[in-house]
Amino acid sequence: MNTARLAETRDRRGRPLHDLRISVIDRCNFRCPYCMPAEKFGGAGAFLPRREWLKPADIERLARAFSGVGVRKLRLTGGEPLLRAELPEIIERLARIEGIEDLALTTNGALLAAQASALRRAGLRRITVSLDAIDPAVFARMSGGYGDVDSVLAGIEAAVAAGFHSIKINTVVQRGVNEDQVLPLVRHFRNTPHVIRFIEYMDVGNCNGWSREQVVAVAELRTRIDAEFALEPLAPSIGGEVATRFGFRDGAGEIGFIGSVSLPFCGDCNRARISAEGKLFTCLFASQGRDLRDWLQQDDAALAASVAGHWLLRADRYSELRAERESASPQRVEMFRMGG
Ligand code: SAM
Ligand code: SF4
Ligand code: SF4
Repeated sequence: MNTARLAETRDRRGRPLHDLRISVIDRCNFRCPYCMPAEKFGGAGAFLPRREWLKPADIERLARAFSGVGVRKLRLTGGEPLLRAELPEIIERLARIEGIEDLALTTNGALLAAQASALRRAGLRRITVSLDAIDPAVFARMSGGYGDVDSVLAGIEAAVAAGFHSIKINTVVQRGVNEDQVLPLVRHFRNTPHVIRFIEYMDVGNCNGWSREQVVAVAELRTRIDAEFALEPLAPSIGGEVATRFGFRDGAGEIGFIGSVSLPFCGDCNRARISAEGKLFTCLFASQGRDLRDWLQQDDAALAASVAGHWLLRADRYSELRAERESASPQRVEMFRMGG
């Protein structure tokens, strides 16, 4: 199979496949109400049995096939990826794939202090930590009563000590719930190498009771922050980042905004997701995924061709459609299941 030709694979809207998110687990040690509300996901029964998780070797094979089709960036996620005991082995396998320029992880950070060094040694390049509040009571609420802000801050410190110099901090902002945390978080991370990104609350899945009124548009957030700390736009980063970047005029660092609802970026979306049991999703708002287990029975060339053929047919643009109408598709897979 000619991988050079496959590397040019573009979907029906002309978008290449560049970025692959791999979920290594659907379970989590938090119950953030906007993602996995405790009243709906209290017991263990709601999650995949372990035997259904893709094995590290299968994850590696899939990632190699995707790299042959153009993927340059891998991100491990979940659920909470640090709950998967084989995570260092998975990272080691992915770190040696030729053509992969970036290997990153998204975590809630609660278990990071204990694992940061091992992840670094395994070959992880970058870490994003989700942190929705700096105030302990608000943080506890945002994690569904399961999280403790000090353990996440300790995780960030341990990651720095392990050699992850600049960490991305992701904050989902919900109107009336944690919007009062925006400025305290900005103050906390100014004058550090870390980059905080404020994310609009999205209508992922069907369980979080999302409504448009709960979204704080990034334009409003920017105005609020700019009133205390003057901001200036920065050039988009080369890696196709979805965040709009700003610098503090006084040189105290960088922040970002991800306006998934108010500023849909489907036109540039070059991202696919694989769930923990091996389903392929070409949009965060998909109602179903393509089971990859039969593709894993194929030889390497046929596997890469199957991936390319699937991407060629992709036409997803949910967020643009949401902007045009009030609702685009009623049935959606939960984000923690497909990999956030
Ligand atoms: N458990 C890890 C974590 O929280 O970082 C990784 C998986 S989580 C699903 C990935 C990211 O999705 C987190 O930053 C989380 O805040 C974000 N997320 C989950 N539900 C969301 C929603 N409804 N709107 C916007 N972002 C959401
Ligand atoms: Fe868990 Fe992350 Fe979802 Fe929170 S956002 S419930 S930490 S998977
Ligand atoms: Fe990509 Fe789907 Fe999000 Fe649009 S809605 S940016 S196609 S994941």
